[in-house]
Amino acid sequence: MANNENNQRPVRVRFAPSPTGPLHIGGVRTALYNYLFARQHGGTMILRIEDTDSRRFVPGAEDYINESLAWLGIKIDEGVREGGNYGPYKQSERRDIYREHVKMLLDAGKAYIAFDTPEELEQAHAANPNFQYDASTRVNMRNSLTMSKEDVDALIAAGEKYVVRFLINPGRDVEVHDLIRGKVVINSSILDDKVLYKSSDDLPTYHLANIVDDHLMEVTHVIRGEEWLPSSPLHVLLYEAFGWQDTMPQFVHLPLLLKPDGKGKLSKRDGDRLGFPVFPLEWHDPKSGEISSGYRESGYLPEAVINFLALLGWNPGDDTEIMSMDELVSKFSFDRCARAGAKFDFEKGKWFNRHYLQQLDDAVLAEKFVAVLRAHGVNPDDFGMEYVTRAVAMVKDRISFVKDLWEQAKFFFVAPTEYEPKAVKKRWSEQMPQIMEELIGVLQGIEDFSSSAAEPIVLGWITEHGYHMGNVMNAFRLTVVGECKGPHMFDITELMGKEETIRRIKVGIENIKLPEA
Ligand code: GLU
Repeated sequence: MANNENNQRPVRVRFAPSPTGPLHIGGVRTALYNYLFARQHGGTMILRIEDTDSRRFVPGAEDYINESLAWLGIKIDEGVREGGNYGPYKQSERRDIYREHVKMLLDAGKAYIAFDTPEELEQAHAANPNFQYDASTRVNMRNSLTMSKEDVDALIAAGEKYVVRFLINPGRDVEVHDLIRGKVVINSSILDDKVLYKSSDDLPTYHLANIVDDHLMEVTHVIRGEEWLPSSPLHVLLYEAFGWQDTMPQFVHLPLLLKPDGKGKLSKRDGDRLGFPVFPLEWHDPKSGEISSGYRESGYLPEAVINFLALLGWNPGDDTEIMSMDELVSKFSFDRCARAGAKFDFEKGKWFNRHYLQQLDDAVLAEKFVAVLRAHGVNPDDFGMEYVTRAVAMVKDRISFVKDLWEQAKFFFVAPTEYEPKAVKKRWSEQMPQIMEELIGVLQGIEDFSSSAAEPIVLGWITEHGYHMGNVMNAFRLTVVGECKGPHMFDITELMGKEETIRRIKVGIENIKLPEA
């Protein structure tokens, strides 16, 4: 079996994005699975930038990839920034290598030169909609197989543009061994003679560069999205053509990410439509100026995104859901990867975020809340971080995102100016201003304003006077919070302190108006 030897080689995997735009969340999952597999086997994770298609190059995309992976904690061992012994790791810097490999194939008669112009190819397509450049058609085209060597040399010398195509012999069952899909057999007759190199820009195509680099970088496992499955027979055939079959990588084609609803592949439009990001970081399109939301800027924690993505296409075999990166590394396996596409359940993503937010230290969460406070015009320095931290601690079990802290905790920083009308109607009454005045008196007399000390005194006073507990406590809350919700009342007043509590009750007495009957 061709890849026996492979099994003994140290694991080397590569994530090989093309910098043609922001890294899609599906690409992030591919990077993650590569990373988990590499770590589990004490292997090496390579980041290779596949930028040979100069027409599709987008400035900023490479930095975006690096920043995304760094944010998520997907560590790269070898790459443009990290260096390594197999560089350069950017394909546009490897032209000599590809040129040399093109020559090897041409010299061995495994590839040929073709001069057909785009117009000529279009004509061929017009005459036959099923046209593909292959064994059945290449004999009628302008290439080094149908022309004399002199003519070919003369055209090249005259500067005529050409491409180099891979000569694929028809009728061969090409076997691709995929760790998720098993043996996949594709007949070579359906493949066209792929363009490997273009003289116009002196660059290889994706096909050649990708495969040559997998060999030279000693990649043992090609782990990538399912959409690349059709390219894998070419991988096999080119490895053979070069005589590298003993080091053929194992293939792993990961299931697609599907729309949360309905059928089909997850797209940016689904995110826009249903309100979730499909990119790890916010992306500013350099051409259109359009801004696409990112997980980071939307308030997701990297741990949550990782945990969520890990389970889109893989499961640990039991119902464990919460797993750290280390746990994922030890549990991950392709045996438990699904073949079928994975529905992108973004509500589950929120659920993970909620979980990881609750796990954060209150002080850490408070630090994250600072920017939100400032955005709402609150200067946290006016309160101090201890105050912010204690406020956050009281409401954090109600949030899925850091930004949600504002809705839950804003009253700690800004006194209410409006009072929720339904609550007013239910809890306020003609007598309430008078009762609240009395409450102020009670509170003034409390020395120790801590929750545990103040609570029995206030509740005792209510009971003693035969007041309605629910109405009085809710009216109290209404003056302090502005509505009838929030954490335990006496925890709130402990943090706010006596002075501010009493001030708010006074303002409430002034401003809460009963609805006209
Ligand atoms: N450059 C390809 C991409 O953008 C790489 C595919 C592969 O991993 O072989 O996804």
